[in-house]
Amino acid sequence: MSVWRTFLAANWKMNPVRLDQAVDLARAVARSARAHADGVQVALFPPFPWMLAVARALEGTGVALGGQDCYWERNGAFTGEVSAAMLSSWCEWVIVGHSERREHFCESDETVNRKAGAALAAGLKVILCVGERAEQLDSGETEAVVEGQLRAALAGLDAEAIPERLVVAYEPVWAIGTGRNADPEHAGRTMKLARAVATRESGARSVRVLYGGSVKADNVASYVGLEACDGCLVGGASLNPEEFSAMIEAVAGVVA
Ligand code: PEP
Repeated sequence: MSVWRTFLAANWKMNPVRLDQAVDLARAVARSARAHADGVQVALFPPFPWMLAVARALEGTGVALGGQDCYWERNGAFTGEVSAAMLSSWCEWVIVGHSERREHFCESDETVNRKAGAALAAGLKVILCVGERAEQLDSGETEAVVEGQLRAALAGLDAEAIPERLVVAYEPVWAIGTGRNADPEHAGRTMKLARAVATRESGARSVRVLYGGSVKADNVASYVGLEACDGCLVGGASLNPEEFSAMIEAVAGVVA
């Protein structure tokens, strides 16, 4: 039995385009999150330019804030980057290793490892994303890919820094933004493996594991009801306040 509340993390990606839309979305989510705060932990991951305004909108609501990425150096001549140290002064969370970062911005297992290490050292909580591509699913490599990504991402990290601050998101790449959510049986089996590997590799007492990939209000219960699942990382559906509020309610119904 988990001691944590079920976690819903909202990855807004590069959305919305306008600041007022971001603030409205944050306020709407916070209203629903408040009503179910006993059972559901919610965190929002807006684009960097909107973070300060979203942080203000979330003040006193219990909804947490995180960055979608970070850089490992503390400061310096790294144009366009935002460091883990910068985020840590007013953010609780950061996502590292999202498949869109790996695919479009050439992130490797090594850079994910450096980012995770810097984030943990800076005091942030980390959502570490792993998952197989479609062809790897088809060739039966899911478990090897997930294990390999976790071993690489967690190599040499300070186990003392990790307890309760490391969350793994199993996000099959073929499920992200496609509407093709993973079969819960496949997701549950892979999340169980991910927890075992992450716990072993990090030396942490316990690691939370989320599922991500085309999660919506009508399928979220099939994941959060699994023993292996501590919550979901949600992309597209988190941009629609009614849909995301319905997800919070659905999760609250499962954990009640
Ligand atoms: C994501 O961006 O992490 C994600 C899971 O996206 P979506 O929910 O849109 O598939």
